[in-house]
Amino acid sequence: MGCGRFAFEAREPWRAQAEEACLRAKVVQPSAYLSRLAEIDGPGSCGMTYPFRASAFAAGEVALTTGVTLSCPIIPEIDSWLLGTVQPAADLYFGEPVIGLRAGSYSCRSRNNQSGARMSEHSYGNALDVFAFRLAGGREITLRKGWRGADDEQEFLREVFLGACRHFTTVLAPGSDAFHDDHLHLDLARHDARGLRRVCKPLLKFEPRLDPDRVSRGPESPRPRGTERPARLVDGQAGAPRQLRPSADLSSGLY
Ligand SMILES: [Zn+2]
Repeated sequence: MGCGRFAFEAREPWRAQAEEACLRAKVVQPSAYLSRLAEIDGPGSCGMTYPFRASAFAAGEVALTTGVTLSCPIIPEIDSWLLGTVQPAADLYFGEPVIGLRAGSYSCRSRNNQSGARMSEHSYGNALDVFAFRLAGGREITLRKGWRGADDEQEFLREVFLGACRHFTTVLAPGSDAFHDDHLHLDLARHDARGLRRVCKPLLKFEPRLDPDRVSRGPESPRPRGTERPARLVDGQAGAPRQLRPSADLSSGLY
C-alpha cells in the first residue's frame, strides 16, 4: 500500500546507528513485556532495523492498553520519564501510582498526516503518543479533558509534560497546535546535526513542584536548579520554560 508516496525518501543513517548503539549498551533487554520483532523495512523509508514490541514499561510497572512497536533508543527514555517524573508526580498529586498508559507508536506516515510534510518520527518507531494515564485506583487522567480540567489533573499533566522535555527532543502537548489536543507527543528526532536542539511546546507558566535533580533517574541534559515553589497555573502561550530554548520553526507540528 502506498509505496509510491515514500519511494524517494531514504532512512537517515543515524537511525540504524542509534539502534545499534542502544542494543550494544544492553539497556533494553527482552522480557515478559518486551519482545524483539523482525526488521520492518518500508514502505519507503519507514521502519526500523531492530523493532521491539512493548506491552508495559518501567519494569512492567506501567502496562499499556494496547502494545506498541518502538525502536530501541526511545525505550529507556520512556522508562526514565515514567519512573523519574510520572510516578513521583502521580504520588504528589494523587497519592497513588500510574499503572497504565493509553498510547500509540509506530505508524508509517507524514507529520500530522499532511501531504508534502516530512515523515513523522512515528514512521521510525522513534515516537510515542500518550493519550491517558491510569491510576492504581482506576481513575484515568486524559490529555483531552485533564489539560484544561480539574486543578490536580492540570498540574499533574504539566509536571509530566515539563519532565518529558528533559528526556525527549520533541515534546508537544495540547495547545502546541491543532493536532495535539488529546495527546502528548514524545520523540527523539534530531533537529540539528548533533541532535542537541529540543522542541518543547506549548510554552507554559508553570512552576513544577517536583525537583528534577532529586527525582529523575534518567539521563538528562544540564538544567539550572530551580527553587521549589507552589504550583502556579497560567494557561496559554506566555512565558518560557526555564530549561529550554523556545523554537520558532516546526510550529506546524505534526508529529
Ligand atoms: Zn505523535
